Amino acid sequence: MKKWVYMFTEGKAEMKNLLGGKGANLADMTSLGLPIPQGFTVTTEACIDYYDNGKVVSDVIQSQVFDGISKLEVIQGKKFGDTCDPLLVSVRSGSRASMPGMMDTILNLGLNDVSVEGFANKTNNPRFAYDSYRRFIQMFSDVVMEMSKTFFEGILDDMKEEKGVQFDTDLTAGDLKELIEKYKAIYKEKMGEDFPQDPKKQLMEAVKAVFRSWDNPRAIVYRRMNDIPGDWGTAVNVQSMVFGNMGETSGTGVAFTRNPSTGDEGIYGEYLINAQGEDVVAGIRTPLSIEKLEQDLPECYKEFMQIANKLEEHYKDMQDMEFTIQEGKLFFLQTRNGKRTAPAALKIACDLVDEGKITKEEALTRIDAKSLDQLLHPTFDVAALKAGKVLGKALPASPGAAAGKVYFTAEDAKEAEKRGERVILVRLETSPEDIEGMSAAKGILTVRGGMTSHAAVVARGMGTACISGCGEIKISEVNKVFELGGEVIREGDYLSLDGSTGIIYLGDIKTVEASVSGYFARIMEWSDQYRTLQIRTNADTPKDAANAIKLGAQGIGLCRTEHMFFDPDRIPKIRKMILSCSVEGREEALSELLEFQKADFKAMYEVLKEMPMTVRYLDPPLHEFVPTSDEDIIALAEDMNITVEEVRITCENLHEFNPMMGHRGCRLAVTYPEIAKMQTRAVLEAAIEVKQEKGYNIIPEIMIPLICEKKELQYVKAIVIETAEQVKKEMNSDIEYHIGTMIEIPRAALLADEIASEAKFFSFGTNDLTQMTYGFSRDDAGKFLDCYYMSKIFESDPFARLDLNGVGQLIEIAVKKGREVNPNLKLGICGEHGGDPSSIEFCNRIGLDYVSCSPFRVPIARLAAAQAAIASEKM
Ligand code: PEP
Ligand code: MG
Repeated sequence: MKKWVYMFTEGKAEMKNLLGGKGANLADMTSLGLPIPQGFTVTTEACIDYYDNGKVVSDVIQSQVFDGISKLEVIQGKKFGDTCDPLLVSVRSGSRASMPGMMDTILNLGLNDVSVEGFANKTNNPRFAYDSYRRFIQMFSDVVMEMSKTFFEGILDDMKEEKGVQFDTDLTAGDLKELIEKYKAIYKEKMGEDFPQDPKKQLMEAVKAVFRSWDNPRAIVYRRMNDIPGDWGTAVNVQSMVFGNMGETSGTGVAFTRNPSTGDEGIYGEYLINAQGEDVVAGIRTPLSIEKLEQDLPECYKEFMQIANKLEEHYKDMQDMEFTIQEGKLFFLQTRNGKRTAPAALKIACDLVDEGKITKEEALTRIDAKSLDQLLHPTFDVAALKAGKVLGKALPASPGAAAGKVYFTAEDAKEAEKRGERVILVRLETSPEDIEGMSAAKGILTVRGGMTSHAAVVARGMGTACISGCGEIKISEVNKVFELGGEVIREGDYLSLDGSTGIIYLGDIKTVEASVSGYFARIMEWSDQYRTLQIRTNADTPKDAANAIKLGAQGIGLCRTEHMFFDPDRIPKIRKMILSCSVEGREEALSELLEFQKADFKAMYEVLKEMPMTVRYLDPPLHEFVPTSDEDIIALAEDMNITVEEVRITCENLHEFNPMMGHRGCRLAVTYPEIAKMQTRAVLEAAIEVKQEKGYNIIPEIMIPLICEKKELQYVKAIVIETAEQVKKEMNSDIEYHIGTMIEIPRAALLADEIASEAKFFSFGTNDLTQMTYGFSRDDAGKFLDCYYMSKIFESDPFARLDLNGVGQLIEIAVKKGREVNPNLKLGICGEHGGDPSSIEFCNRIGLDYVSCSPFRVPIARLAAAQAAIASEKM
C-alpha cells in the first residue's frame, strides 16, 4: 500500500520533495540524535491527492494519520484524547521550499473541556493547562476556521483591563478559565456550533486546513514571485508538544546562526521566558536577545550553541532554528536554511567558502539570483517604510524605491527636476515624447500598460523605478489630479513607489542609495568562471551601454534604433518620416535622421570598443509615434509645410486596429526601403569611422526584426548589402558585417531552417514571440492575468518567465532547424526573459550563445548563467 505518512524516525534528509523541507530536516535531526519532539509527516503527495480527490482526505490517508498517532502514543507513553494525561501535538505546514505565505502553526491540539482538567492535575499546574487550552482555541479558530484573531485579542485585552494586569502571564488560572468560556462562546456565536471536542476531528480539520493553505491567495502570489510550481503541494508535520509556558525555567525562541540582515557572524535571535511560539512573533511581550539566555539558563544556552553550530556545519549554511525549553530541557522544533537579504547572502556565501565549509560552486548556488536586484537600486529605509500608508498595488515594472513630488506631464516633470525637486511622473500611459520627463523622474507610475509596455521597458533600461498598469487609479491628467486608496493626490503632493513590489505609498518615504560591496564583486568574478553563456545588454544610449559594461555586460544584444529617436529634438523628425506621403519627403526626413543615427552609433561604438553590438532596424509600433496632442500636430504641420487638417487625415489613415501586429518591423523596410538604406549607411559609416580613428576591430551586426518569411529577409537583406557595399567603396573600407534576424513570430520559428540560410545569427524576441504565441497583447495582458493566477490557470506571467511548454518549444525547434542548416549560426535571446533566471536556465540548456537583458539585470544574468552551468554539469 502506498505510504502517505512517515514517522520522523523513518524519513531522510534526501526526501525533501516528499516530506517538505521541515519534515525532511526533522527526520534528519532525529537521526543525528538531536533533541527533537517526535512526530510524523503527512506527505506532499497526500496534499496533491486531497486536491485530486475534490478536496477530500481519502480514508487510506486518514487511517495512516491515525496510525501515526498510535505510534506516537507509544513513543511518548501518552494517549491522544486521554482524559488524565493527553498527548498533545502541534500541526504545521512544510513545503519543499519554505513559504512564508502559508499556514500558521497550531499548538496544543488534542485538548478539550475534559482533558484540560486531567492535564492540569497531571502537570500540577492548572494555570499552564488553561493557558494552553485558551491558546489552542484561538489558534484553531483563526487558522482552521478562519475566524478573525481580533475577536480573541479583544476579549483578552478586556480581561487584562478588568483584572488590572499588563501581561497575559499575570492572569491567574481562574482568569484563564473564565477566558476559555468566553472564547468558546464567541466561537459558537460565529461558527454556529460548539468548539470541537473530539481530538481526531480537531486533527483532521487541522490537516485539511494545511492542505487548503497551499492554495490561499498569499501562497499563490508567493509561488509566482518565487517560481514555485503549484503541483508540489505541502506536507503536514504533526509533532508532540513541548511547552515553553510551564514557568520561569521554560521558554521559546527563534535564532539564526548568522545575522540574516547583514550576514555578520555570530548567533542572532530572541526568546521569551514562559511563553509559547506565537508570543515571540506576535510582539505581545518584547523578546530578549538570545545572548541573555546565557545568564538565565546557562546550561541550556551551552547546549543550544553546540547544536546550532552542529546544524550549521551539517547543512553547510546559515540556519534559522526554532527551539523550546521545557522546565530546563532544551528541544529543537525545526531548522532550515535561513532567509536573508541580498547583502547577507553574498557575505555568508563568501564567508562559508573562506571558512572552508563549502566550495565556490556551492556558494554560487546558494544565492537567489533575483535578489541581487536589491543591490542595484535604491531601497526604502525600513523604519520609514513601516510608517508609510499603502495606497494601492500594481505591476512591479522596474525595480527600485523612489519618492518625490507628483507631476502629470513630462514637461512639468522636467521643469521640477531643474528646480532640484525629486519627481514622480504619473501618466495614463507613457509614449516616446515623455522620454525627457521619464528620465527626469525618480519614479514612474502609469494607469495602463503591462510589464513590457513602453513605460516598463524604458524605465528598466534607465534603471528608474516604475509601477505600471494601476487600473484602480482614477486620473485626470488635464486637472492634474488622481485618486487612489481613498486619497486625492494633486500636483506637488508627495508619493513613494516601490518598483520592486509594485506598492504605491502616500507621502515622502526616505530612500537609501544602493552600494555594491566587495562580496558582490567576488561573487560576480566566481560567476564568470563558471558560466558558459555570454551576457549582453539591451541598450540604446552610450550611458546605458557604459553602465551595463560596468555591471559586466560583454556587448549589446539589442540596440532598439527607434528608441534613439525618443529625444524631443528628434521625435518630430521621425514623425515627419512616418507621415511623409512621398519618397522624396521621406528621404528628406531620413537625411536629417541619418546624422543623428550615425553620431549615436559612433558614440556607442566608442563606448563598446571591440565588444559586439546588434543594431536592430526600426521597429516602431505606430501608435507609439503618431502625434496625438494638438500642439504636436500643429508643429508637425508647420515643419512639413502642410495643413493641420492634412496631418490629421494622414494620422487617421495611419490608424491601426492592432498596431502591435501592424505596419512595423521589417514591414516598414519592405514598403519604404529608403529607411533600411539610411540605417545601413549610418551603421556602416559610424563603424568604419571609429575603426579608422581608434583602430578598433568592429564587426557591425545588423538585425532585421519581425521576419516571418525567408523571402522577406532576402528582400531587406539585398537592400542592406547594396548600401553597405556602396558605403564601403566610398570610404575605402573592407569592413566585415553580419546580417541576422529576430525570431519573434511563430512562423519564423517553424521555418527557421529556411530563414537560417539567409542569416548569420538569430536573436529570439521573446516579447513578441510570447505575445503572438498566446495571442495576448503584451500591453494589455496585465489587466486579466491576475485573474488567471487566482484561478490557477497560469502560475506565472508568460511575459516575465518564459513559457517553456509553448514558446520554449518554438525556440527549441528554431534552434534545431537553424543549426542544421547553418552550424555556425549565432543564437541569443533579447526579450525581457533574457534577465530572468529560470528562462536563462532554459537558454543555457538548449545551447544559446548569449542572453541579452536590461543593464540593471546584467549581474543577475551573470549569476543565473553560472548557476545554470553548474546545474547542467551535475546532470
Ligand atoms: C521582443 O519582441 O522580444 C523584442 C526584444 O523586441 P521589442 O520588445 O522591441 O518588440
Ligand atoms: Mg519585438
